[in-house]
Amino acid sequence: MKDKLVAILTIILFVFPAFSCSQKQKTLPLSPIVKPKNVILIIGDGMGPEQVGLLLTYARQAPHSVLKDRITCFDRMMDKNGSLGVSLTYAHNVLVTDSAASGSQLATGRFSGSEMIGLDYNGDPVITVLERAIQAGKSTGLVTDTRITHATPAAFAAHQAHRGMETAIAVDMLAAGPDVLLGGGLDVWIPEEANTKEAGVRGELEKLTQGAFPIRSKRKDSRNLLTTAREKGYKLAFNRSQMNAASGKLLGLFSDSALPNAIAVSNTLDDPKRSIPTLKEMSAKAIEILSQNEQGFFLMIEAGQIDWAAHSNDAGLMLHEMFRLNETVNHILNWAENREDTLIILTADHTTGGFGFSYTGKDQPAARQLSGKLFKDTVYNPGYNFGDPGVLDKLYSQKLSYGDIFDKFYQLSKEAQTPGNLALVVNRYTDFPITLSQAERILETEDNPLYAADDRRFNAKTVPKLDNKDEFYIYQKTSNQHALLALAVASDQLAVWNTGAHTNTPVLVFAKGTDAARAPFSGVLHHTQLGQYLMDAVSKK
Ligand SMILES: [Zn+2]
Repeated sequence: MKDKLVAILTIILFVFPAFSCSQKQKTLPLSPIVKPKNVILIIGDGMGPEQVGLLLTYARQAPHSVLKDRITCFDRMMDKNGSLGVSLTYAHNVLVTDSAASGSQLATGRFSGSEMIGLDYNGDPVITVLERAIQAGKSTGLVTDTRITHATPAAFAAHQAHRGMETAIAVDMLAAGPDVLLGGGLDVWIPEEANTKEAGVRGELEKLTQGAFPIRSKRKDSRNLLTTAREKGYKLAFNRSQMNAASGKLLGLFSDSALPNAIAVSNTLDDPKRSIPTLKEMSAKAIEILSQNEQGFFLMIEAGQIDWAAHSNDAGLMLHEMFRLNETVNHILNWAENREDTLIILTADHTTGGFGFSYTGKDQPAARQLSGKLFKDTVYNPGYNFGDPGVLDKLYSQKLSYGDIFDKFYQLSKEAQTPGNLALVVNRYTDFPITLSQAERILETEDNPLYAADDRRFNAKTVPKLDNKDEFYIYQKTSNQHALLALAVASDQLAVWNTGAHTNTPVLVFAKGTDAARAPFSGVLHHTQLGQYLMDAVSKK
């Protein structure tokens, strides 16, 4: 009898828990050690919650939205097996980051210093997630619509004291040896002799690039990194058809500097002679090549010009840059649709501009009758202008970026550079017309409050006259006049901007993949943590 009892108790004590465990296990997500085969990191440079909000607002509210089903890539990132986190981006011991430090923190998981590339804040090189992925036998790639040696892509495959050292960064990138490098910026890969009309190398380059863009070198030496790349087994591509025809290791440089802005791209998209691939096309090519590797791959894709549009306070261009990101992410989501082996992280390196739509006291809408019970004996008469969604269609219909509008204006003869002509150019390419007096205000200049003779950023004697905030509008020679145009049309666009620089606003982190793979990327993070989780995801052990 007693033995029987002992036997029964043993069964109860030991068998049932095992049974219940295995039952529980069946529902548990895959154990954390099952790592994604492929990791795709998409960085919207300067894409804070404000920029994400702009695209979502357009999708939901634009009367003539061109977005199918009013759905964005962010919606798709969040539907089934998607999660959301929030991440702080500050660099070491400062409140606000630049793209170099933030890119370095994402790439290495370690705190970095402002403007450093692939270094910790002491200035020591640190292994990046791309280099770790190579160690794990994975294929790797970097794609951007800026220069491939610009801050964000550079942070993943180079180690330099300053982001401006692009000629040295190009050398580092070849040494790191990612399988795919696609973007702009030929000017730091070719020898200085290329600047000499008669130089043989210049002729070779003109033949190679088939005259797709001007040949000019920023190098101060005779290194031809294209030759080095070929010796390392890279195929070279300088236009869309060369890229499409290539396979294996690929270095594609499709402009002397950055690729065209998103409005310029959409203006030439259907041109059969278009030689520059879009961000989506470059990303598709990268995945086509990298996915050949059975060990998997790591790919970083940067939509880098969201930041530039925000620095210029150019809301119309910024919307179009968000569209560039949207179509690229949608392509990747289509590719990964039925895959369980891929982790996709969509985030930003920082926020730029402090943008928002805001209600105003101008153009208060007329009172009107409503059908509702509470308005039988009264009219509906909101006290402020809360903003007609039609503004979104007008933003989308912008035909040139503010930068290209001012380029067109300054291409006029000096005598023709009048407020009247500025208004003409602005009103031709945007749906937010300016008056003559607004054009006069935009062209007003003042003595440079930040003047510094030995600093080429601040050595202009006179600069566009900003009423205040000069300290936050530091790109005096490029985007300050753009910001004055934004200010002139602000109340018509109901658009407010805080700064011409970056802010500390935390950025969103969208993660898509298996429960286990994306689990670490939700919650409140700092970008160094995000970097560590990425490093872990690509590492063998
Ligand atoms: Zn920036």
